[in-house]
Amino acid sequence: MFDDNYLIARLARHASRAPDAPFARGAGAGGTDLSHGALFDGAQRMAGALAAAGLQPGDRVAVQVEKSLAALELYLGTVMAGGVFLPLNTGYTGVEVAYFVGDATPSVVVCDPARADEIAPLAGAARLLTLDAAGGGTLADARPAPGTPFTAVPRGADDLAAILYTSGTTGRSKGAMLSHANLASNSETLVDYWRFTQGDVLIHALPIFHTHGLFVATNVALLAGASVVFLPRFDVDAILDAMPRATALMGVPTFYTRLLDDPRLTREATANMRLFISGSAPMLPSTHSEWEARTGHRVLERYGMTETNMNTSNPYDGERRPGTVGFALPGVELRIMGEDGAPVPQGEIGVIEVRGPNVFQGYWQMPDKTAEELRADGWFITGDQATEDEEGYITIVGRAKDMVISGGFNVYPREVEEVIDALPGVRESAVIGVPHRDFGEAVVAVIVAEDASLNEAAIIAALRPQLARYKLPKRCLFTPELPRNTMGKVQKKALRDEYAALFAT
Ligand code: AMP
Repeated sequence: MFDDNYLIARLARHASRAPDAPFARGAGAGGTDLSHGALFDGAQRMAGALAAAGLQPGDRVAVQVEKSLAALELYLGTVMAGGVFLPLNTGYTGVEVAYFVGDATPSVVVCDPARADEIAPLAGAARLLTLDAAGGGTLADARPAPGTPFTAVPRGADDLAAILYTSGTTGRSKGAMLSHANLASNSETLVDYWRFTQGDVLIHALPIFHTHGLFVATNVALLAGASVVFLPRFDVDAILDAMPRATALMGVPTFYTRLLDDPRLTREATANMRLFISGSAPMLPSTHSEWEARTGHRVLERYGMTETNMNTSNPYDGERRPGTVGFALPGVELRIMGEDGAPVPQGEIGVIEVRGPNVFQGYWQMPDKTAEELRADGWFITGDQATEDEEGYITIVGRAKDMVISGGFNVYPREVEEVIDALPGVRESAVIGVPHRDFGEAVVAVIVAEDASLNEAAIIAALRPQLARYKLPKRCLFTPELPRNTMGKVQKKALRDEYAALFAT
């Protein structure tokens, strides 16, 4: 039934062998568990609805819906029907959605019913269907009856399974093309490395429009035959409530700082847990040590990105070293390159390059961008600056690409600057990330105003309808002039240094 579809054959292996095994704890009718078999039954119905809507192999399915198990079934159903899953952040505005739809030309767009009127004119030639958080909507209505089988459309290792957009520093978002084998190989590696088994219960509180929640958490749980506590969003109460029944948590550093703020986080509360994983942004060594002091667990930090899936991880058995992202995963080659194009001497800073079955197929319809970042011999230039110590631990020290990561979400300064600069009365702006205990980094805009009456509140109010919430500056500060180097480039480092203590408490 699933054998000829490379990724689905692997993800559904457990559903085929042990269909009654639990997948989502407490998520079935009357609070029973939803089984692996039931999840794939749901996925087959989604595949049936998409095929009936005219989806052809290789077609993109753009999806902007709330996190739900139905949305997970839609991901699996899309791949099962031979489609390419294209998830969009639920915070994206209509203007942002219009860009992705125009660029990726999906044949189906799925949105929340509440936004159907807004999205319909943006969908172009695509068929618009809806899906709400409770599993209702026109897509749900179009599904065949429960139990209707769907034979997975044959797809090979190199066929595309997903396109995930990652904003570029130039302001234009790039669609990272991920193949069936990219996703399957990385998840298989992680299951082994992090020792996931059928006995695991993973707390799944990450969004499913991003590589971390969609691929790392979901695919690992499916491949291992594990189960999940599937939470719609991060919520301290819900996580503390789930921990006595759970064994693992995957989170961004903000999860850990927020949990540490709650006195109910104790050794007893985490006694059933075997593994806490952090990634998507750097975890402060102080968070790592506070976590260990309070719970007795050492957080396992790993490093990856949309284009490459996961690249490195601290060891499961060996020392999990705070402030580092560990070693290259099995099957992943990693090197740290200097500006002269040669690997830097051990201990010196260079840019990480990676190669392996995890590395993406290039940027959707951007051959020039692809050629700039993905070398012909398979090495991908990540843009992350790092060092390697004498024992091989990798430490990320900065981002050549200047991106800000706030609460686990990537914010590209260029994109925010362009919107600010277009406001009346603004001459120019520089957007930076500054340290923030809760968000990791906070977005801050430094603005040169022509109109002296402009104020912070007015700027934020003008930005709100144009930018997703997580991209909005937490502070807008005014300055008579931006610091620049002799080449005329704004010196962001000087600004970051100047405002480093803005959120210090
Ligand atoms: P994304 O494509 O959204 O997953 O963002 C990828 C970027 O997040 C990487 O290129 C890194 O800059 C950053 N990143 C991910 N994990 C870590 C980590 N553990 N420590 C530091 N930066 C990280």
